[in-house]
Amino acid sequence: MKQLLLASSIFLVACGAQTDASEPEAAEKPAPQVEAEAPVKPNITSQSLGGNMYMLLGPGGNIGVSVGDDGVYMIDDKFARFGQEIIDVVGTLTDKPITYVLNTHHHGDHSGANVEMKAVGATVVAHDNVRARMGMSYMNQAFGRQQDARDEALWPTLTFSDEMTLWFNGDEVRAIHIPAGHTDGDSIVHFVGANIIHLGDNYFLGMLPFVDVDSGGTIQGMITAQQTAFDLSDVNTKIIPGHGPLSTKAELGESIKRLQAIHDRVKARKDAGESLEAIIAADPLADMTKLESFIDKPAMITATWRSLGGDI
Ligand SMILES: [Zn+2]
Repeated sequence: MKQLLLASSIFLVACGAQTDASEPEAAEKPAPQVEAEAPVKPNITSQSLGGNMYMLLGPGGNIGVSVGDDGVYMIDDKFARFGQEIIDVVGTLTDKPITYVLNTHHHGDHSGANVEMKAVGATVVAHDNVRARMGMSYMNQAFGRQQDARDEALWPTLTFSDEMTLWFNGDEVRAIHIPAGHTDGDSIVHFVGANIIHLGDNYFLGMLPFVDVDSGGTIQGMITAQQTAFDLSDVNTKIIPGHGPLSTKAELGESIKRLQAIHDRVKARKDAGESLEAIIAADPLADMTKLESFIDKPAMITATWRSLGGDI
């Protein structure tokens, strides 16, 4: 349990499961003396994805950006404290305003700068459940803490129930809701013409993923999300994970196999009557040790167990 809690506290910084106001920042900031000696490094950087598309990197969830005559369509907006820096970086890419921001889900590292984006005129769009989750206080069992409802100023003002297409900057941009994936409010966003898919936190590249069961997520839904994106992809598709570097269809295919293996291994033991503690002790994910980051193997097994209906 101690190991799980330690992993959890690191996760809270990396994935922003808690609100901005109370988020510990120590893990992201260098010690003061290091800061004084080192040159000032930008937090937010842009990476060209070709044409009119960019990815913004830095602390928090990856941002996808379409720029063009119609303005800026941004997928996710990291944390509030980077709002102005995000706006400044976008300003180096285009002189057009940020028109729409879509939140792939409600977590604070993907929606934290909604207020700042609204202040420059953006309309914040998301699945219905993103708005509902932001207005909800609930007990997060995975981290043993109460999650408070977030300020209404952050909530999306344009929501959809299943799928939404925005025809923007000459592209067809489909937001597809995935029920019960990373959470119950996730969208994956397909820029059809640009051949780019943003998966939000339904895809972590190179690390074990977080399934937020307390927010309606399941590992089965996360597999569905990845399979949906895989089926929409070809060898040239650029895939933006919620966390980690730009990815490919081949890497996404590996991730699907891995998640399916995690699901199958935990399910086989659960179906055979093993307890959660016994499954964790058996270390069925021993071959995935190198993928541990803020989600370690016990946390991954526990989320899978709960996805399968098991109690903790
Ligand atoms: Zn998330």
